[in-house]
Amino acid sequence: MTRFIFITGGVVSSLGKGLASAALGSLLQLRGYKVRLRKLDPYLNVDPGTMSPTQHGEVFVTDDGAETDLDLGHYERFTGVHARKSDNVTTGRIYSDVLAKERRGDYLGATIQVIPHVTDAIKDFIMSDIDDEDFILCEIGGTVGDIESLPFLEAIRQVGNDLGRERTCFMHVTLLPFIAAAGELKTKPTQHSVKELQSVGIQPNILLCRTEQFLPDEQRAKIGLFCNVSAADVILAQDVDNIYKVPAAYHEQGLDTQICKHFGLETSPPDLGMWEQIAERVSRPESEVNVAIVGKYTSLQDSYKSLGEALDHGGISNRVKVNITWLDSELLETDDPEEACRQHLSQMDAILVPGGFGQRGSEGKISAITYARTQKVPYLGICFGMQMAVLEAARTIEQTATASSTEFGETDHPVVGLMTEWVSGNKTSKRSAEDDLGGTMRLGAYPCVMAEDSRAAALYGTTQIEERHRHRYEVNIGYRDTLEAAGLRISGLSPDGELPEIVEREDHPWFIGVQFHPELKSKPFDAHPLFVSFVEAAKKQNRIV
Ligand code: GLN
Repeated sequence: MTRFIFITGGVVSSLGKGLASAALGSLLQLRGYKVRLRKLDPYLNVDPGTMSPTQHGEVFVTDDGAETDLDLGHYERFTGVHARKSDNVTTGRIYSDVLAKERRGDYLGATIQVIPHVTDAIKDFIMSDIDDEDFILCEIGGTVGDIESLPFLEAIRQVGNDLGRERTCFMHVTLLPFIAAAGELKTKPTQHSVKELQSVGIQPNILLCRTEQFLPDEQRAKIGLFCNVSAADVILAQDVDNIYKVPAAYHEQGLDTQICKHFGLETSPPDLGMWEQIAERVSRPESEVNVAIVGKYTSLQDSYKSLGEALDHGGISNRVKVNITWLDSELLETDDPEEACRQHLSQMDAILVPGGFGQRGSEGKISAITYARTQKVPYLGICFGMQMAVLEAARTIEQTATASSTEFGETDHPVVGLMTEWVSGNKTSKRSAEDDLGGTMRLGAYPCVMAEDSRAAALYGTTQIEERHRHRYEVNIGYRDTLEAAGLRISGLSPDGELPEIVEREDHPWFIGVQFHPELKSKPFDAHPLFVSFVEAAKKQNRIV
């Protein structure tokens, strides 16, 4: 029997609802349950694929090729359960499906309304694609009280009614602000937020209250009294200094115990050894490394959420703390890029150019790569970072000194260009330069075959892998000889040999570019081999004494 836990947020946004859901997922898993996490996003975009990363944060890509909210990354990293297309939906997607059905005449002439048509579509989504999971944890994006979230709240209210208390639980995440002048934690915003939820017919069963301070018992009882829940169901979520401590902290406050009690389930408490070990390694690293991420959206770290996490995972397995310096590549675009690189990068043990789009800042990234190549600083290029490493290499050869990407406009040497057709299994996909922006990318998991004697194969421990993609342009295999003459080996390819997936330098301590996004599959308890090896190479630089 599958049970549903709905997670809503109140008072303010950015309360860490995604992380709280992920941590609860892990706790239930450690009690022996099978879980799946989902997110319902109230905005009108059909998916986050076309949203600016500086506004919305990273686009997390699933194996089955969905562009989803970054919270799905937290879910995967905490539970190891790979998310699917069916784990994230937006108002835009719901409406576009409802309207398509209406145009097809599927509603047989009915008047289409928010209740029941839109809410039914939301309920269908919540209930779809469930195997034998014990729990579906379903997070509602946004804050209670937003106009956009109303149809979602109505839909989950109905699910609560349909399935009853034995199969549904409502958890509300709120904030208890600390007013320094009064020296008090304030409960009023929580009370108001719960009232707002009650006004749409939802009585929360569990309150998870984020706070910086300890909450005295009488305050807990007061919140319970005013919000119509028992004091034991008011869970204090005090800030912790690293995210891996969250599962243990919530468990200590009774979160999973109360959830199990709600459903009348008796299981032994979770073994938190794994999280304790990870938290311990994070708190007590043996040394530190400095890694520069040279990119464009460096002002908002959420735009590279998984990347920061994957580097941390590499640090955890190497027992080092990874200090990340976010460097805006345009700072390297001066009259003397070499000097600019020396100035900004000489303290760095490793350089990484991450995924990116568009020409702005690309020359600065190429300069950083030249610096990494010539100064023998470990370099990892991800997606755009691989494409730029390829341009950098081609430009060292006289005939292709003007090498560029067709992403930047016409060029006589399209070393990176638009592939109009590619094959995956027995399916051929096509795209053209005129297609809509959403939906023309190579998205999701694709296989890659590596040369047996490559560094990549050595560090993966295999020659066949599948990694997640999100890009429109490809390295042009026609320039293979040029690149090899420049010292850049194509060591991983799509199985048909058409699409370069991995490049590496043999004349360098550690220089790898990958067309895919390895960071999306890294976990704290199972760090991605590329990041383990990259951080290890940084550690060998030993610049910090
Ligand atoms: N802009 C490049 C492309 O579309 C790289 C994309 C990326 O780095 N995710 O191919």
